[in-house]
Amino acid sequence: MSASKCSRLSGALIEQLLDSVDSVLFDCDGVIWRGDQAIPGAAQVINRLKEKGKRVFFVTNNSSKTRRMYAEKMSGMGFNVSEEEVFGTAYCSAVYLKTVCHVEGKVYLIGSDAMRQELEAMGIPHTGVGADHIVGRQADWANVPLDPEVKAVVVGFDEHFSYMKMNRAFQYLSQRDCLFVGTNRDTKLPLEGGKAVPGTGCLLQAVETAAQRRAQTVGKPHRFMFDCVASKFGVERGRCLMVGDRLDTDILLGSNCGLKTLLTLTGVSSVADAEAHQRSGCPERQGMVPDYYVDSIADLLPALQG
Ligand code: PLP
Ligand code: CA
Repeated sequence: MSASKCSRLSGALIEQLLDSVDSVLFDCDGVIWRGDQAIPGAAQVINRLKEKGKRVFFVTNNSSKTRRMYAEKMSGMGFNVSEEEVFGTAYCSAVYLKTVCHVEGKVYLIGSDAMRQELEAMGIPHTGVGADHIVGRQADWANVPLDPEVKAVVVGFDEHFSYMKMNRAFQYLSQRDCLFVGTNRDTKLPLEGGKAVPGTGCLLQAVETAAQRRAQTVGKPHRFMFDCVASKFGVERGRCLMVGDRLDTDILLGSNCGLKTLLTLTGVSSVADAEAHQRSGCPERQGMVPDYYVDSIADLLPALQG
């Protein structure tokens, strides 16, 4: 393909690009849905891609759902999807702990009930899910009861995040051999109407600051998410397309893994953001420049209609 980087994908170029790939990885929030609302045309695009024999996978940094929950959400929106095609950080963190960290012992989990379920499905014992409020006096907090079997601290999205959870993580992580894993580093979760809420990256950074240690992270742009898909489905990277709305997570993941990259403008990043990376001339920022961009993945639909 002759087009230069960060060019608008339209007309015959869409067909050429789709012909050049066998697999497509889709980020979720900002690409196929926004919150609880499907992006118009997204389900048709996914379903048509599959009917045309493409393999389609979903990679999300959101750790608040199991792969089954995502499959149910998507089915309800009209997507033809099975849970094996969904790679969320709740599931991928459990795979990471098992296959990369070879964790032996319990996980102290700052995270959602979905993460608890994915750990259990992988046979990883855990403690910590749910509310954990401050008790006693400050002098007692350093002596808070700890589970001697804990060998790893894992931080994901946790609506019950509290000072006491941070304190417990701090106490476990003061043992140097305790593993430290985070689901992802997204610090801001954009909402409709220009609003936003703090993301998991804020919780992770709080624990990192307390423990004076840096966690290994599982989610995009770390290549583990792609490795997880590739090892299960034998994806050929040169014939794989990554579609995302964020340059610093999705597009960088694609570049890190040697995939073709497509930015969609229905989410966080803009063409101006991408061009700023491109113009900077800074080698580390070039991985955040997509090959192509579209206004919405619905723009792929006409090329899939035939
Ligand atoms: N983490 C949380 C807790 C979220 O709610 C979201 C989006 O809703 C994300 C991460 C980003 O998800 P994605 O990678 O699908 O854009
Ligand atoms: Ca996204």
